[in-house]
Amino acid sequence: MLANKLDITAIPAFEDNYIWLLSAGGKSCAVVDPGDADPVLDVLAQRGLDLSYILLTHHHYDHVGGVPELLERYKAKVFGPDDERIPFVHQVCREGDQIELPDLHIKLEVLEVPAHTRSHIAFFADNVLFCGDTLFSLGCGRFFEGTADDMQKSLDKLAALPAQTKVYCAHEYTQANCRFARAVEPDNAALQTRAVEIDRLRSAGKITLPSTLGEELETNPFLRTRAQSVVDMARKIDSKATPGIATMAVIRAWKDKF
Ligand SMILES: [Zn+2]
Repeated sequence: MLANKLDITAIPAFEDNYIWLLSAGGKSCAVVDPGDADPVLDVLAQRGLDLSYILLTHHHYDHVGGVPELLERYKAKVFGPDDERIPFVHQVCREGDQIELPDLHIKLEVLEVPAHTRSHIAFFADNVLFCGDTLFSLGCGRFFEGTADDMQKSLDKLAALPAQTKVYCAHEYTQANCRFARAVEPDNAALQTRAVEIDRLRSAGKITLPSTLGEELETNPFLRTRAQSVVDMARKIDSKATPGIATMAVIRAWKDKF
């Protein structure tokens, strides 16, 4: 369950990461994927917040690098995947687990979504999703430790969540992803509409997130590997591409060199 008054703020970090800050009106807060401690410490000081929880989606440095320093300053409980590369997790999270953040009156469900890394997880509650580097707005993560099959299954799991779910991914990649998505589906009208809005937001220096899962289902080629237009485009690269996994593999390989 999600508290209605939950406030979710983006803390920019590095070049294009977002660390999501969750607060519920009181002093307690949570952060998701704090790759860097300094920007988090600044915001906590400005807002007079006390860090109670840290949620981690995967082991990459730009998602966990700030944790040791944050733990020196705050007694926060760390939730994360079952992975020896993240030594400071206090509560290991597995598929179907319900994790409780009592100070924020929230319960989140854990989804295992491997492919970008083998132990990548996502956190879901009501209509918010923290999906790290698995699903991006108009894109998906690279397959560093998984296959197209893994990513297809992981994205199918996320695609089954309610359409109004807000997608809080960990990077501002939307505009570049949009250029690729338009190359895959030049005739997708919903994508043209999003492209205009994304360009408007970026030229005003604004964040493009969160999007909704419903928007992503209409416009994100990696959620559309069974759509005829996406399969047809994949077949121009590999004539044997079938809907689903094979199309996922073809468009990911294309994106990697786009
Ligand atoms: Zn990553």
